[in-house]
Amino acid sequence: MKAAVCRDFGKSLDVEEVALDQVHRGEIRVKVSACGICQSDIHYMAGAWGGELPAVFGHEIAGTIEEVGEGVDDFHPGQAVVVSLIRACGHCSLCARGLPALCVGSFARDVDPPLRDAKGHAIRQGLSTAGFAESVVVDSSQAVPIPPDLPAASACLLACCVMTGFGAVVNTAAVAPGDSVVVIGTGGVGLNAVQAAVVCGANPVIALDISPEKLPVARSFGATHSFDARADGARETVRELTGGRFADVVIVAAVSGQAVEQGLRMIGRGGTVVVVGMPESAAVSQLPVTAFAYQGQRILGSKMGGAQPHVDVPRLVTLHRQGRLKLDELVSACFPLDHINDAIASSSSGTVIRNVIVFPA
Ligand SMILES: [Zn+2]
Ligand SMILES: [Zn+2]
Repeated sequence: MKAAVCRDFGKSLDVEEVALDQVHRGEIRVKVSACGICQSDIHYMAGAWGGELPAVFGHEIAGTIEEVGEGVDDFHPGQAVVVSLIRACGHCSLCARGLPALCVGSFARDVDPPLRDAKGHAIRQGLSTAGFAESVVVDSSQAVPIPPDLPAASACLLACCVMTGFGAVVNTAAVAPGDSVVVIGTGGVGLNAVQAAVVCGANPVIALDISPEKLPVARSFGATHSFDARADGARETVRELTGGRFADVVIVAAVSGQAVEQGLRMIGRGGTVVVVGMPESAAVSQLPVTAFAYQGQRILGSKMGGAQPHVDVPRLVTLHRQGRLKLDELVSACFPLDHINDAIASSSSGTVIRNVIVFPA
């Protein structure tokens, strides 16, 4: 089968023939219909977070189950699923606490990946998934069934940006009706944080970004206000829009340490900053310790929106069916696998929310 292989950080991907191993116990093989290009893929491919190469990235998948391994009772061939990077052993202490995205279980595929190149050399499964390929072999815990009539090009986004942005608001921050919410960074994750804040009844919902072209998009996803994150007096504007109390919750979806500091300046007493965007490994932020303690504030990290995919994906599908969660509007353009390098290059343009790699049926 064909896959887009990353052999050097910062270089184009090679679309080449690779071999995919048969499924082992507990695994499934999924024919990929669509795979979104997430900023995390782009960060990995640029070398921002290290990791071993060669690797195939792509972790935002919609597809159809082709084969199930021994011991997999809850899936069958032909079933429509999304596949995420959340691979859960089901019995470590973090899985037991309902935090599968933080699972510390070990998996044989990390040592012996299912992908080989034409010379028989192992290729790593980036983010445990390797979705920029015609099929994937993954742990069955990574898949969640979806209705077969959901278009794959938008359904795939449930597996990362929708689940993450939505979960940061609903699972991590537990936003309540009437809370004032600021979202810093309105890419794929940030826009879903905006939609989630609206679903939760937050008001106002203020979206900030450094790309002016993204601000009207944030309004179309339900933000009550949006303005340039670098504007003079941004903090003062938030104070005015919240009737002087500042934000109850700031979701930092932008990938910079300064954005976290900006978020800390925008929360009020008892306020919460949720850090969901991940800059390069060396990024740091400063915390105004005294004010933070005195005002009883919180800062929370949110990996994959603290999602439990078997809870969150059906919930997101329901909201989409009710017309309360936009999915199709998140897709900027679709590209075939052969044009993945063009798709990646265009993903860094300010107007793109999500580019998606689509595969022939
Ligand atoms: Zn992602
Ligand atoms: Zn676990």
